[in-house]
Amino acid sequence: MNELIFIFVFLLPIAWYFGFRNGKNREKERSSGNKAGFSRTYFTGLNYLLNEESDKAIDTFVSMLEVDSETVETHLALGSLFRKRGEVDRAIRIHQNLIARPSLSSSNRKSALLQLGYDYMSAGLLDRAENIFKELITVPNHKAASLSQLLIIYQQTKDWEKAIGVADKIEKKDNSTRAEISHFYCELADEALASKAYREALGFLKKAFQVDSNNVRATLISARIHFSKKRYKHAVKCYKDLIRQDLAFLPEAMDSLIDCFAALNDQKGLIYFLQDAIQKGAGISAILAYSDILQTTNGDREAADFIASQMNQHPSVKGLLRLIDLHIKHAPDSGKQSLSMLRNVVTKLIKNKPVYHCHHCGFDSKTLFWQCPSCKHWGVVKPITGIEGE
Ligand SMILES: [Zn+2]
Repeated sequence: MNELIFIFVFLLPIAWYFGFRNGKNREKERSSGNKAGFSRTYFTGLNYLLNEESDKAIDTFVSMLEVDSETVETHLALGSLFRKRGEVDRAIRIHQNLIARPSLSSSNRKSALLQLGYDYMSAGLLDRAENIFKELITVPNHKAASLSQLLIIYQQTKDWEKAIGVADKIEKKDNSTRAEISHFYCELADEALASKAYREALGFLKKAFQVDSNNVRATLISARIHFSKKRYKHAVKCYKDLIRQDLAFLPEAMDSLIDCFAALNDQKGLIYFLQDAIQKGAGISAILAYSDILQTTNGDREAADFIASQMNQHPSVKGLLRLIDLHIKHAPDSGKQSLSMLRNVVTKLIKNKPVYHCHHCGFDSKTLFWQCPSCKHWGVVKPITGIEGE
């Protein structure tokens, strides 16, 4: 039904105009009479339509649109419309047909080429699209669009070196690509780490920091490298940087942080680190880590009192769960059952909640994505804070 609406609302009036024009031209050629006629092709298209062969009708009407300087815009609009409707093959045929016309002006050919590049992107033919956009970056009018498309291609193919090269060219006009470039270096660092090329990975991270000194991902990868090489003080230094960069990411480092101070046999250092983080507004992970130390050194009650005191400022479901755990073993039998039931409810509440949230498009997930799978922006997904999160 949508196809028929498309034909009647858009294609038929255009085809009617061209059918009328073509018929009139031929009539003029044959005689000097005033009677105008429609081209035979137009009626063939109508016939297909009446026989409910909409595919053939569309192709017939499209074939009626002669390519000349007056109709190029119509062809481009039609091709774009087909692509947006998901009919990429038709869009490709229209744009290829345009480009093949020797009479087409250079400017119109490039416009058609740009549209063909978009068609190839929609069809997933990235190598063909890449060739077109590489040609068009030399055309001032199409440079920005082509660079943007090349950046998408190199991200999809994980060709990070090329992505950096292209983003660098966009960078000159738009500062928003700095975070992206920094993440591309992090991708290269991750790839180097996968093959245990630590020195190479650190080199990429250095470049990531040069582009964006607040890239928490580069900090976390650096800490991971230092930890795996048993350079615990260096790793702790990274975690101190993390607090300065973005406290929200501290939960990502918490386990490794505790292991670092344990390897250094420096519990005082850990206490100072956590106190400092909590004072600066760290969420429930830091509070719980600190309460774990209190529980070991001073017992359950002191740990519970500390969490309760913090809950006034940082109400948290995770904090509530830990409070229940700390109270349940000291509760009388009559209270144990109620606390146990409450514990089950709170556990289910936490289990079904997302952990991360995209601050650009609102996408929620339980996995930390450095590039949002929904809006494709880099570095916009963060741990959720507040009562149900951190
Ligand atoms: Zn997003």
